Amino acid sequence: MHVDVPAKVQEIYAEVLRRNPGEQEFHQAVWEVLESLAVVLGRHSEYAEMKTIERICEPERQIIFRVPWQDDSGEVQINRGFRVEFNSALGPYKGGLRFHPSVNLGIVKFLGFEQIFKNALTGMPIGGGKGGSDFDPKGRSDAEVMRFCQSFMTELYRHLGEYTDVPAGDIGVGAREIGYLFGQYKRITNRYESGVLTGKGLGWGGALVRTEATGYGAAFFAEAMMAACGESFDGKRVVISGSGNVAVYGIEKVHQLGGTAVACSDSTGYVVDEKGIDLEMLKQVKEVERGRIADYADRVESASFVAGGSIWDVPCDVAMPSATQNELDGAAAQVLARNGCRYVVEGANMPATPDAVDAFREAGMAFAPGKAANAGGVATSALEMQQNASRDRWTFEHSEAKLAEIMRSIHARCHETADEYGSPGDLVLGANVAGFLEVAEAVHAHGLI
Ligand code: GLU
Repeated sequence: MHVDVPAKVQEIYAEVLRRNPGEQEFHQAVWEVLESLAVVLGRHSEYAEMKTIERICEPERQIIFRVPWQDDSGEVQINRGFRVEFNSALGPYKGGLRFHPSVNLGIVKFLGFEQIFKNALTGMPIGGGKGGSDFDPKGRSDAEVMRFCQSFMTELYRHLGEYTDVPAGDIGVGAREIGYLFGQYKRITNRYESGVLTGKGLGWGGALVRTEATGYGAAFFAEAMMAACGESFDGKRVVISGSGNVAVYGIEKVHQLGGTAVACSDSTGYVVDEKGIDLEMLKQVKEVERGRIADYADRVESASFVAGGSIWDVPCDVAMPSATQNELDGAAAQVLARNGCRYVVEGANMPATPDAVDAFREAGMAFAPGKAANAGGVATSALEMQQNASRDRWTFEHSEAKLAEIMRSIHARCHETADEYGSPGDLVLGANVAGFLEVAEAVHAHGLI
């Protein structure tokens, strides 16, 4: 624990540890925010009095449920489902569903906690939540995924609603899963409630740019960071880990903005393509065929595949970790620094470990935390909800311009808040303080609930 953090904040953290034993990722996410809040307590004694921070650290509701389903061979399978409705001060709970074998309550709570502040930073009226299951969609047939989603929604539907809780996708949950989930919700409730889920297909209430939004948004954020230093993507080498939705559209926008994304990865290893990742081929391999990143290297002459290993060994100017939590540790951060990397922009949620963030600081690199840099996804979900509410459909150009504006304004807000609270350039502090203040003000106004 850092010694320069006031006793009050350390006390709050000790209580979080006591109450949530073994939930390491949740502890990490809470501590990262608490560390920034010392500067706030001095200016807002009312938040100490009303235990506003303590209340924000405790989810409003945590739902855990059984998800039974039958696989294609007829065998009964049992998974566990989660939804953590963390904070509704700013609007209905909003946040994705993650289907991955690593999902447990601690992971969902870390993601839900991050989501509160991320959503606040977007300036849209959405609270924070997250959910998912330890179900592994990898290798499962469409029919199996459908049966799982139907069973999952058969329990979850009672907790959802366009004014209550609005899930979307995350790792393992894309347009296919959202379709099955929406179908089951509609069937059970007998309501065509478009605004109950986001990330829907374009023909049935979905919004243009939602698919691209997280990756595009992270690239727009990186552009704003570089602009603040008088630079741009022009001629920059970019390494983006992952090859899911965030990485794919991050690469697309980086290329459009003048940079070259030279590497991406999946859980089996990474590919380097000095010519710049061929996006059509990457989409074919990962989205259409649901294959392995090595297949990309087999088909593209300029590319090479490295099994296992660390993608952060690839020299770059800009690193965009866009795979999963804690994928970039202190040692990798030092390699990046040594190789001259100057900007790190988190496309995933909390992909850099605390040691890595310390190493970026020491090396004087600019670092953008996920809750600011990857907020474009959920911001565009809120735009989808707006379109659903008004029965409207916006053009791609209109929605993309809105997304770009939202990302620029999140950057400006984090930047200005860091200045105002005495830590110029510290986007971690800026994001945490700006997000917290927005939520805390509403929590305080609503009284002791
Ligand atoms: N899963 C995304 C995130 O981490 C998007 C959530 C949403 O659109 O509700 O922010």
